[in-house]
Amino acid sequence: MARLVIVSNRVPLPSERGPRAGGLAVALADALRPGTLWFGWSGRRSGTPDPEARLQRGDSTTYATIDLTEAEYRSFYVNFANGALWPLLHFRLGLVEFRREDYEAYRGVNRRFAEALARLLRDDDLIWVHDYHLFLLGEELRRLGVRNRIGFFLHTPFVPPALLHALPRAAELLRAMCGFDVVGFHTRTYQRAFLECVREILPGTRVSDGAFSYDGRHVLSIVDPIGIDAAGFAATAARAEHSAETMRLRESLGGRALAIGVDRLDYSKGLVNRFEAFGRLLGKYPQHRRQVSFLQIAARSREESGSYQRLRRELDRIVGDTNGRFSEFDWVPLRYMTSTVRRQILAGFYRCAHLGVVTPLRDGMNLVAKEYVAAQDPTDPGVLILSRFAGAAEDLTEALIVNPFDADEIADAMHEALAMPLAERLRRYAALRERVWDTTASKYCAKFLTYLEQEERPVPRLRLQVAS
Ligand code: UDP
Repeated sequence: MARLVIVSNRVPLPSERGPRAGGLAVALADALRPGTLWFGWSGRRSGTPDPEARLQRGDSTTYATIDLTEAEYRSFYVNFANGALWPLLHFRLGLVEFRREDYEAYRGVNRRFAEALARLLRDDDLIWVHDYHLFLLGEELRRLGVRNRIGFFLHTPFVPPALLHALPRAAELLRAMCGFDVVGFHTRTYQRAFLECVREILPGTRVSDGAFSYDGRHVLSIVDPIGIDAAGFAATAARAEHSAETMRLRESLGGRALAIGVDRLDYSKGLVNRFEAFGRLLGKYPQHRRQVSFLQIAARSREESGSYQRLRRELDRIVGDTNGRFSEFDWVPLRYMTSTVRRQILAGFYRCAHLGVVTPLRDGMNLVAKEYVAAQDPTDPGVLILSRFAGAAEDLTEALIVNPFDADEIADAMHEALAMPLAERLRRYAALRERVWDTTASKYCAKFLTYLEQEERPVPRLRLQVAS
């Protein structure tokens, strides 16, 4: 079997301690065949990074990492990837900050990744690149003469042409994506948007059955929804129900219902609207006062960025307002914490929550929605409230689907969920459970690799020498 080479911006090094919030490492844990090489950034910044990757051996995987310089970290990671691409791909044009020098740094880091990776490659390696930090990596590897099969998976949404056009260099970026053989998306909507962009922005391209040819290269786009190890997570949740943390949480509720939200602290997650909605629930349906507590875990993320700092201030304000308005001497309605909680502990929290509230304004997939379903007690399941703009909504249609921009609609859904009879909860849970068990992390990995392994057409050589 060919060796699998995974490439992602950050590499989850076994030597790193402490919990990390983020879907990618969790989902890929299942893909790691024995002998896998995982390549990417070490998370460290150094003055003069070594051009060669540092190797670290884990149980079945070898990790190869390079450092970034301080300037690369700022321009490539903070400014271009997270300050331009992330808001664009989440439909937030108003937050996009584009600077040419940041784009050049983005290209530079993709090139440096390619050069360090090319040194480690064997002829028959399958290369699987992840996410928006590395749109240019396929093209940079081809420039160095790499002829292996290279796949790319985008973990965010993809935007239609009207939005992509707003990004200077969009055409260059899209052309670069033709360096990949397979390009994967979570949903049909994102795939369709991508193919519309290809048709409109790359002149003369013929698209059929999700595949297209451009400038002598053949690219296949696929839909491959990511998932979780549902059975494993369900077992973890059943155990965690009796963990010290879950007991403490349950005791603190004093018999009240629990609503839970779990996210990275990110403007795409719709937290302001969610808190606004919870306030409206308590204002509009006073029967829920003192009867329900909302626990929001919002793991701090990307703290170096101005828009995240502004979001945090806005959340502090709205939490203070809501609690100031509705708290009573023995009840605080909204519990809000910004530290990261381990997934094993979260599993028990999900299980004792009557409501799982997942209301991103846009989200590639959203694994929390799937985790919440998997963690439920099958005899007394809670209710999932889910944004129609999360990728997960294409599958999890038996959730209470809401428009996250409408705080009243979310409040009404919370009210409906709190009053929902057991029979309806069981019916919805059965349907959701089937979907979550059907789109697991291992199926996601297996499907992508099946497409990546299929040799479609010979890949033409672009340029041959490896730059040193
Ligand atoms: N997560 C966690 N601890 C936290 C917050 C989140 O372990 O305090 C995990 C969560 O369980 C999920 C992942 O981080 O597995 C978040 O993935 P998701 O797809 O929902 O969103 P992303 O962060 O990738 O945008």
